[in-house]
Amino acid sequence: EIKERRRLSVIIFNQKLVPLRQRKLDVLSVLRRAVVQESMVKVLYQPIIATKDNRIIAAEALMRIEDDRLGMISPGEFIPAAEMAGLISPLTEIIIRKVSTFLKNHEQQASHLSHISINISADDLHSAEFARRILDIIEQTKVDAGKLSFEVTESMLLSPSDSVHKNWNAFTERGIHFLLDDFGTGYSNLTTLVSKPFDFVKLDRSLVSNATNNYELLSLITGMLKHLGLSMVAEGVETKEQLEVVMREGIQFVQGYYFSKPVSEEQFLRWLSGSMCIIPKA
Ligand code: C2E
Ligand code: MG
Ligand code: MG
Ligand code: MG
Repeated sequence: EIKERRRLSVIIFNQKLVPLRQRKLDVLSVLRRAVVQESMVKVLYQPIIATKDNRIIAAEALMRIEDDRLGMISPGEFIPAAEMAGLISPLTEIIIRKVSTFLKNHEQQASHLSHISINISADDLHSAEFARRILDIIEQTKVDAGKLSFEVTESMLLSPSDSVHKNWNAFTERGIHFLLDDFGTGYSNLTTLVSKPFDFVKLDRSLVSNATNNYELLSLITGMLKHLGLSMVAEGVETKEQLEVVMREGIQFVQGYYFSKPVSEEQFLRWLSGSMCIIPKA
């Protein structure tokens, strides 16, 4: 009887694990193809809005990977896999090339944008080669580098190496801006805020979504950032109530589903060519 039960548990165990493991292997093989087949790598653009007039002032580029069999894969699933497999840097380069090409091809429509930001990974920032490769892309595409910015997180700056400083300086000298992403989670260290010149600090979605019941924490953090003279973007604004709380705190820029989800290049371009104004659905 014990033998029978053990056999049964083995079967249950395997049924759960096999598809999961298979999925991870599938994602990995899709990633390996995507780094050489750039058409599988998609960029979506999520507008960043100025609260004073609901106009688009900037955007964040967000990566998706599309496979015939697996469909659209989200970063939550493939970024950790790509980082583990050492495939993140080629993907970052693809995104930067696509965004640069977009900005160059639509220079006139993008002229009112302050920047488009790209998420970079710790591996990128710590790589001795990163700046050189990205500056090459900027040369090739002839993009105005001042329209590019990079989003980094605090954890990436915890062990600043020589390469981090060199990359950082190479980019800022070229006019590229830096944003501190996901602030208000993890360490939220004062030292990080003053260690590097950030153009914007992006307040994490969790701070914003908690703010309608408890805005003490949001209030404390925004007070500190204002005191330091830093501009803020509130991430993950989904409702009118959240927008009101954020505006009451004096935050001037927001990003979130209330205004728009990340959209295709075509949709984003339609907004840029039009009034740049997004009226949220009530
Ligand atoms: P992130 O940089 O903090 O990007 C914001 C994420 O929040 C995006 O998810 C966006 O779609 C989502 N979001 C925006 N507004 C709302 C909202 O109102 N409600 C909710 N629930 N979510 C909202 P996404 O596109 O799935 O990306 C997830 C994370 O993956 C990003 O977080 C970023 O850390 C990473 N990622 C995305 N694209 C890239 C990339 O090209 N390179 C790297 N290294 N990481 C990337
Ligand atoms: Mg980001
Ligand atoms: Mg974020
Ligand atoms: Mg993030």
